[in-house]
Amino acid sequence: MAENYDVIIIGSGPGGYVAAVRASQLGLKTAIVEREHLGGICLNWGCIPTKALLRSAEILDHANHAKDYGLVLEGKMSADVKAVVARSRGVSARLNGGVGFLMKKNKVDVIWGEARITKPGEIVVGKSSKPVVEPQNPVPKNVKGEGTYTAKHIIVATGARPRALPGIEPDGKLIWTYFEAMKPAALPKSLIVMGSGAIGIEFASFYRSMGVDVTVVEVMPTIMPVEDVEVTAIARKQLEKRGMKILTSAKITKVEKAADSLTAHVETADGKVQQITADRMISAVGVQGNIENLGLEAVGVKTDRGCVVIDGYGKTNIAGIYAIGDVAGPPMLAHKAEHEGVVCVEKIVGLPNVHATDKGKVPGCTYCNPQVASVGLTEAKAKEAGRDIRVGRFSFAANGKAIALGEDQGLCKVIFDKKTGELLGAHMVGAEVTELIQGFVVAMNLETTEEELMHTIFPHPTVSETMKEAVLDAYGRVLNA
Ligand SMILES: Cc1cc2nc3c(=O)[nH]c(=O)nc-3n(C[C@H](O)[C@H](O)[C@H](O)COP(=O)(O)OP(=O)(O)OC[C@H]3O[C@@H](n4cnc5c(N)ncnc54)[C@H](O)[C@@H]3O)c2cc1C
Repeated sequence: MAENYDVIIIGSGPGGYVAAVRASQLGLKTAIVEREHLGGICLNWGCIPTKALLRSAEILDHANHAKDYGLVLEGKMSADVKAVVARSRGVSARLNGGVGFLMKKNKVDVIWGEARITKPGEIVVGKSSKPVVEPQNPVPKNVKGEGTYTAKHIIVATGARPRALPGIEPDGKLIWTYFEAMKPAALPKSLIVMGSGAIGIEFASFYRSMGVDVTVVEVMPTIMPVEDVEVTAIARKQLEKRGMKILTSAKITKVEKAADSLTAHVETADGKVQQITADRMISAVGVQGNIENLGLEAVGVKTDRGCVVIDGYGKTNIAGIYAIGDVAGPPMLAHKAEHEGVVCVEKIVGLPNVHATDKGKVPGCTYCNPQVASVGLTEAKAKEAGRDIRVGRFSFAANGKAIALGEDQGLCKVIFDKKTGELLGAHMVGAEVTELIQGFVVAMNLETTEEELMHTIFPHPTVSETMKEAVLDAYGRVLNA
């Protein structure tokens, strides 16, 4: 007889494994199915290994500017890319093992294989179509295997994979996805990055720091197109100062491959076509949900543009089937996946005061150099929504800590509703902003007023003081500019 659970989760990324832990905490008999790697894309090929690579890049950048800080480092600084990659893979492996530990600690059964929903309340787990390729991330011990399993609630948390443009499909050799870009055997001399969203620009930043000649090609008029234009203009200037070439309103229409290089045909807004030759290209044109071969169509689960359609609590149109994380649509971010997992499980259990996920309050961070972080509406979006707004700005050039750090190129920008004082959005570029943005996220979540923010004491000297000054600026009360 099929083993029965209260809840089975398909996919052990940040959405799935966090949902599993919460379900177990709430007393549900829980199982999680995984076909490739505990921790999903985030821990193994996404958030974490990129941050490890970017940390190496950051240290190299600092070392190359040691003189600016009165330090003498002898000889030319350079990267041993094999060691850089090995460190990044090691960081991932450690966290991958950590998810295994969490499953054991929380008494969540791990089922190894590929799951398919056969009917509401039942899945069949077959042989994985994705053999484990990473020696650091072996199939964990004591997992359950192929077979039929039943559960009252099934949560689909299968994540997403790279999107490909027709005719410019990644081949793993000359045209890379994030998988190949994450562990190059050697550094290319030159690189084209197609797409300047968070993934594209983080890799562009990493490879530039490693000394690679990088050209970013973005079809939209600005890089990091979802971010506020003032912030991305500063980021662009800084990236270009570091030697990165950036083409915006530019489209790669064709790629010609040679034995060990490629030539991209790039069409710019004025209709001109230029050819750029490079050793490698990274295709970073977005991701698409893993909705295939899951039996979703057969059981009638509604999907739209490659993602499962859900309500604010992860419920699909079919009773007992839920979806969370990347497979349930944008923003495709790990913290959104985790939050949706917790909300979904708490709603299943019937806890009181469970709030639907508010996608308007999901922060976004890009860990390039300089960093970019934001939450809420951009100025353009606030205006588009017809909001009467007040905007405040504070430059890092007037912040003592940023100057002491030698990182005075940055901006904090806030957007308030003029009538109600509601914080509509916050946008930052510069040192450590990915750590700082959470201050604004908490403020938005607690529906803090502008007055409360202005009366909050910020520690000195910190870059966080730019946040308070930006708020003060919105109300004509800036102190240090
Ligand atoms: C290069 C890169 C950098 C990123 N950086 C960040 C960042 O800094 N911050 C951030 O918030 N987000 C980042 N992301 C996005 C983040 O990785 C995703 O948003 C997050 O992993 C989504 O979590 P998830 O649980 O929905 O799915 P995933 O992490 O994709 O996990 C899904 C899991 O489901 C498994 N699976 C799929 N189908 C089946 C099946 N049929 N049976 C069994 N198992 C199955 C997969 O093997 C996988 O392990 C980055 C992504 C990339 C690619």
